Amino acid sequence: MTDAHTTTPGQTEDVARHLAASLAAGDIVLLLGDLAAGKTTFVRGLVDALGGDPDEVSSPTFVLVQTYPATSPTGIARVHHLDLYRLEGTVRDLRALGVEELVNDPQAVVAVEWPKDALATWLPQDARTWVVRIEADDGSGRWIRITGPGNGTNTP
Ligand code: ADP
Ligand code: MG
Repeated sequence: MTDAHTTTPGQTEDVARHLAASLAAGDIVLLLGDLAAGKTTFVRGLVDALGGDPDEVSSPTFVLVQTYPATSPTGIARVHHLDLYRLEGTVRDLRALGVEELVNDPQAVVAVEWPKDALATWLPQDARTWVVRIEADDGSGRWIRITGPGNGTNTP
């Protein structure tokens, strides 16, 4: 478990870069926190550390899934970034989005903002799952708590 406090977006990216060093292909990262907590910022740090282009990471208005190529020496070839905020999150919704293939991509790290319970339907039993909780403090600070890795649907 990691507990961190950050005062700038750059520091939040640093915490993500630190987590990236522990990630393996096939890992799932669930991001919890209110709007503007810093979930997308965190994903930007992950993508950067995994050899992708951080500038491609944005909070998309309509695109719910983005895939960034990665070049990690540990065999992570891409990062799938899902933002399920706008979805009700039924099994049907997620299936239409292609979630089954995405979370079963053995060469990817999958980062999910606003994860839905229905996601568990397709999480591989042996997938390692990390949970990142981000909370704003009274100012521009953020508390970041990372737990994991848990196993499959048994999220930490
Ligand atoms: P989310 O994806 O959770 O909705 P974003 O990462 O898109 O959040 O946005 C977070 C916003 O908060 C950005 O505008 C960012 O610049 C700002 N911010 C300010 N301080 C921090 C911090 N310590 N960590 C992360 N983001 C911060
Ligand atoms: Mg976001």
